Amino acid sequence: MKEIVIISGKGGTGKSSICCALAHLWKDRAVIADCDVDAADMHLILHPQSSESKDFFSGIKATIEAETCSSCGLCASVCRFDAISAQKGKYLVNQLDCEGCAYCYRICPTGAISIPEQKVGQYHISQSRLGCTLIHAQLNIGAENSGKLVSKVKSVARHQAKQEHKDFLLVDGSPGIGCPVIASLSGAHFVILVTEASKSGFSDLKRVWELVKRFNIPGACIVNKADINPVICREINEYLLKEKILALSEIPYSEDFPAAISMGRTLMEQNESTWRPIFEKMGNAIKEIM
Ligand code: SF4
Ligand code: SF4
Repeated sequence: MKEIVIISGKGGTGKSSICCALAHLWKDRAVIADCDVDAADMHLILHPQSSESKDFFSGIKATIEAETCSSCGLCASVCRFDAISAQKGKYLVNQLDCEGCAYCYRICPTGAISIPEQKVGQYHISQSRLGCTLIHAQLNIGAENSGKLVSKVKSVARHQAKQEHKDFLLVDGSPGIGCPVIASLSGAHFVILVTEASKSGFSDLKRVWELVKRFNIPGACIVNKADINPVICREINEYLLKEKILALSEIPYSEDFPAAISMGRTLMEQNESTWRPIFEKMGNAIKEIM
């Protein structure tokens, strides 16, 4: 089973639409993982029919048990994040300010402080309307640790793909170069970079490729909206050649992208005659490399 991760340095390049189109193409051969957990959206197109949901716990926060607290104030004096304060003589932790360092827990003389793990989100194992399994998740508002949730989604998806004897695990990664992207890339066999012919698209492509190179994963690139700036498109192609990144496809700007998303469809469902040949060609090129 081969793991293919689709990422883009910049948001709004059409990455998720392309991932959904490939999911449509390989619906009998792949399990899909939506690892863009900060802004998951594949479920809007793949409409999961049924799902098994599990809570995701990560990180700790301090809480003070009033009955056991002697109001000595030691915890407030050591908290470097000013998360503990006295209110009407009682010491309380502001959960939004607590960084979970556990210093207060270690030094409290009466054992009044506990540091329970936090429920920061949920992940789901679902049957998509296309028939393939979709593993997706969401992080609670303001919650951290999206990288850990991505790792969880990936490990569940890997297990699922092996259990279903699928050829591919298709991963929709997060935009940017931060922790969730690093977690998406970990263990991948191949990466598809989606960019657009704009200054920011090109700049973010270079940044994300610098990251991918550290993982030593071979890559290919899809230039979306390739016709909006032919000069930058040419510069991108020169860069791909220099960096030995396979130029997988150039897609001209198309209203089908926003139209398909607003209708909850894949690109193939939006316009079969245009998109199927394009994605079949891409799919064959990827399979050949694999
Ligand atoms: S260190 Fe412990 S006993 Fe002292 S104020 Fe904090 S919670 Fe209360
Ligand atoms: S766990 Fe750390 S950050 Fe949170 S209240 Fe205690 S000392 Fe402050």
